[in-house]
Amino acid sequence: MPVLFIGHGSPMNAIEDNEFTGSWGNISKKIPKPKAILAISAHYEREDTSVTSGEKLKTIHDFYGFPQELYDQKYDCSGSKELVTKVKDLIKEVNFDSKWGIDHGVWCVLSRMYPDADIPVVELSINRKLNMQQHYDLARKLYKLREEGILIFCTGNVVHNLMLARMSETPYKWATSFDENVKKYVTARDDLKLVNYESLGEDALLSVNSAEHYIPLIYALGATDKNESVSFFCEKIVYSSVSMRCILFEGKK
Ligand code: ZN
Repeated sequence: MPVLFIGHGSPMNAIEDNEFTGSWGNISKKIPKPKAILAISAHYEREDTSVTSGEKLKTIHDFYGFPQELYDQKYDCSGSKELVTKVKDLIKEVNFDSKWGIDHGVWCVLSRMYPDADIPVVELSINRKLNMQQHYDLARKLYKLREEGILIFCTGNVVHNLMLARMSETPYKWATSFDENVKKYVTARDDLKLVNYESLGEDALLSVNSAEHYIPLIYALGATDKNESVSFFCEKIVYSSVSMRCILFEGKK
């Protein structure tokens, strides 16, 4: 199975039709239908490494001040005991979390990719106690799941600075610069540069002002080989400081 990194942006993408939601619908038709999805989301941070263990996952509306229509949305997918067991086999320290469901970083996108919600989903938490290298090393253990028809689905944003977001079509220079650098390093598979993004200067620090939206990219890199093909099926910065960049990593056929 391929690996996806999705720039999810605003929750409104769950109910608006635009170039991003269109590309998410398209990509699901291009890749094989997964048996199950393991999601790594910017919005599921914990103090440990956990997986969602519920048989049914509730739709979490983890955002404020949006129209009622968005709060009425539900994505009724099931969990997967089988996938939870597989993850536990690969990552011994993983805990089971029966309380969390699917957050908007996941369902806003999956509802456009797989509207029938007929694929089981498990979320793997972002453990706040790990550093970037540890996240990368953890992700490498997930590689095997791909051979069993599991889609590793990483959802965040390469550039994500909401404090400086504005209603403008013009991206900040630092946002464009960092977004382009990420494209360059992902293409060259210079994973070390991306893991050590803090050494890339001021543009990087402004773009990754809190790391949770960037970390899913590290999981996508960790779960793929350097000889896999990389394609960018969305490339745009919205609100001047949120990159909607989406990346498909595909192994050799
Ligand atoms: Zn988000």
